[in-house]
Amino acid sequence: MGGVLSGGQKLGDARVLRRRLFRWHRSHRRQFPWRKNRTLYRVLIAELFLQRTQAKQVVPVFRSFVRRFSTPAHLARANLRLLLRMVKGLGLAGRVPRLREMGREIVRVHEGRVPTRREDLLALPGVGPYVAAAVLCFAVGRDEPIVDANVVRVLRRVYGLQTNRSRPHTDNMFWDLARRLLPKGRAADFNYAILDLAALVCLPRKPRCAECPVMVSCAWAADHAEKT
Ligand code: SF4
Repeated sequence: MGGVLSGGQKLGDARVLRRRLFRWHRSHRRQFPWRKNRTLYRVLIAELFLQRTQAKQVVPVFRSFVRRFSTPAHLARANLRLLLRMVKGLGLAGRVPRLREMGREIVRVHEGRVPTRREDLLALPGVGPYVAAAVLCFAVGRDEPIVDANVVRVLRRVYGLQTNRSRPHTDNMFWDLARRLLPKGRAADFNYAILDLAALVCLPRKPRCAECPVMVSCAWAADHAEKT
């Protein structure tokens, strides 16, 4: 299924999809503290927290966390029991030592500043490709695709894609597709829009196709037209 956007027709569809998505997003954008003040450290912490828990539940934990540990240096000196108390509700109890180690690594290797090179981000304890890409996109401003299970759900449905990976978001096909869909210079807006569409409209069990801005471009909606 790779190369789904290789033809001129499909690229034309992508432009329609972007335009419709952006128009919808102007009035449906979700507001979160990590979207307003996008420093490298805040985005890094938010993305680590969002890996296992829904955004709404992350908000209060994120707010108290960045108040208490406002820099990597503060995190590096954190008391493990306090850290555990703060993040255990996010399903991150087992990752607490790595979280502090990440702060220490940033202090030790990068003089207390979150790095902006992908390889340096990936070398930090607990940071994988998704979190690294999110930091590069949302905090550094690069045109980076981000692909998690929610983004995959939208891409699979819109383009009628299948994968045999048990963790579809690790399939390069989706990263390639997401990269090709990015409008130059507006990757952050586009990625936020896809994430918001997945959270508000393209729901896992019952997608709300009738109110979806990209329904005209969606293979899944065409296949299920009679049911929706
Ligand atoms: Fe998801 Fe339906 Fe929208 Fe397709 S039309 S992206 S299946 S909500």
